[in-house]
Amino acid sequence: MADNQEKVVVIADSITVGELAETLNLPVTTLIGELFKNGIIATINQKIDFETATIIVDELHLEDVRLEKREAATGPTRKEHVLTDNAVERPPIVAVMGHVDHGKTSLLDAILETKTVDDEAGGITQHISAYQVERNNRKITLLDTPGHEAFAALRQHGATLTDVVIIVVAADDGVKPQTVEAIRFAREANAKIVVAINKIDKETANPNLVKTQLATEHNLNPEEWGGDVIMVEVSAKTGQGLDKLLENVLLVADLEELKADEDTPAEGLVIEAHMETGRGSVVGLLVEHGTLHPGHYLVAGTAYGKVRTLLDFKGTPIKEAGPSTPVTVTGFKDLPQFGDTFSLVKNEKEARQATVAARLEREKEAASTNVTSADILKMMNQQHEAEEFTIIVKADVQGSLTSVIDSLRLIDTGGQITLRIVGSGVGNITENDVHLAADSGTVIYGFNVELPPAVKRQATRDKVEVRMYKVIYELLDDAKRSMEALLSPEVKETELGKLTIKGVFRTMKEEVICGGEVTSGKITPGLQARVLRGKEQLAEVEVTKVQRGQVEAKEVFEGDMCGLSLKTDKKLVIEEGDKLEFFSRELVKRTLS
Ligand code: GDP
Repeated sequence: MADNQEKVVVIADSITVGELAETLNLPVTTLIGELFKNGIIATINQKIDFETATIIVDELHLEDVRLEKREAATGPTRKEHVLTDNAVERPPIVAVMGHVDHGKTSLLDAILETKTVDDEAGGITQHISAYQVERNNRKITLLDTPGHEAFAALRQHGATLTDVVIIVVAADDGVKPQTVEAIRFAREANAKIVVAINKIDKETANPNLVKTQLATEHNLNPEEWGGDVIMVEVSAKTGQGLDKLLENVLLVADLEELKADEDTPAEGLVIEAHMETGRGSVVGLLVEHGTLHPGHYLVAGTAYGKVRTLLDFKGTPIKEAGPSTPVTVTGFKDLPQFGDTFSLVKNEKEARQATVAARLEREKEAASTNVTSADILKMMNQQHEAEEFTIIVKADVQGSLTSVIDSLRLIDTGGQITLRIVGSGVGNITENDVHLAADSGTVIYGFNVELPPAVKRQATRDKVEVRMYKVIYELLDDAKRSMEALLSPEVKETELGKLTIKGVFRTMKEEVICGGEVTSGKITPGLQARVLRGKEQLAEVEVTKVQRGQVEAKEVFEGDMCGLSLKTDKKLVIEEGDKLEFFSRELVKRTLS
């Protein structure tokens, strides 16, 4: 064995590009270039998260480097909870993940015995929220995790707060890219994996193939083959295997000895946040420790509020919510962000102080991440002029906003067009957004939000384009098309025919009248042609007239003898035996693959 020592780099939630470069002993530009290739525009001072850093290290093939995550303890709301002696058993928090169409939604539905599949705009789950089910008198908290790679970011958050991940694999389709991604998320989040081999009712189901794929390619060895991963054959359609699945989830959770404190101040995570007319802020929380009551003062990131109503996942008012309980609360004065931790404070004064500290922290972070694409290009010393597509994104809830933005960033323009998001936020389009967009060609995208009439009028007046969408793919398609429109067009030539000159009748200053035989294709007036002598191109000409005998013709075909008037821009001497190649030339829009 050589002195092949692994270098372990411990980073917190995030690290600046400069720090990472220094730690890895690499030029900053190498890292920035690699990030750029991955669609991330970064400067030396910009923070990248642990996952991004891992991807970059992987892509740079730094085999002797391993990144390790240390949870950052920043701000008053992020401190690690230390269990007390009174800690009690808590329900496991479970996420359902897998490839699109493998049946995540159907499976959750079947478990919850509700129907939501038909309600989904575009067929993907738009919001993350959570439910609870009971089996054998024990509760299981299920996170309704979205199911498409466009929602990778959300899912990543979903995974970090989970104990168990149910990976759904369709028995008739096998392991697919998002299955692999889900396995990765689950492992990164240190969650236990239970595999649900779904659609077992189908004739084409081949559960053994799924198991083989998982075992041989992904190191997930089925228990029945002597491994340690439970794989349950299920059908969301017939209900087969669902009880067994949940029992096994509990079994796996038992091995983890999941505990939480009930008697400490409530704390947990924000899993959804949006505004509703008449109700104000509506915030989904997952209690991790403690017990939450109406009237409690909560702080989450830069937002705070007094819990006005406390509802369970069905929308029923409740008096208290203990560990692993998903709830919806109203009463926050601002919207917290998806993924923020929340904690209890004594009173409004303390709440305000905590949010001021959090805001300062965020501003400091924002100041180091605000960069223009021009800065980046300068730094990377790239010569080509990248076009910019500037936008503002508004969405109904923080989860959707994150997803839309992340998905937009994934649109690959091969570095030709830079997407610049100059503003984003949760809530309806406002006059402020229009103001920000005016004069700069910025487009405002609204996802599941409204455009109040007054704002619409202002947008029309200021010639600001506002585009509203309810389906994420349509929004992404639109953004892609808009970016394509910014690409300079390509010239495309199509060959239409060939002719051999048989005689030249007149040669004038800017016109040649000649005759020849069409050897292929079709010739019509108005076409461009290259005049070739052997391999040499003499000129490009335009066909102004085509004649068959003495009669003017609209078109002549292969095998025809014809007369031609050619327009030239200089005196051109054509000889018998020269060849003409006819073509059309058009500008075509380039597209992004
Ligand atoms: P998701 O994208 O992973 O959430 O998948 P869906 O739950 O939307 O399911 C995709 C398609 O598969 C739908 O047409 C479902 O009706 C179908 N489906 C889901 N589960 C089953 C199952 O167990 N058996 C059969 N036959 N079809 C299923």
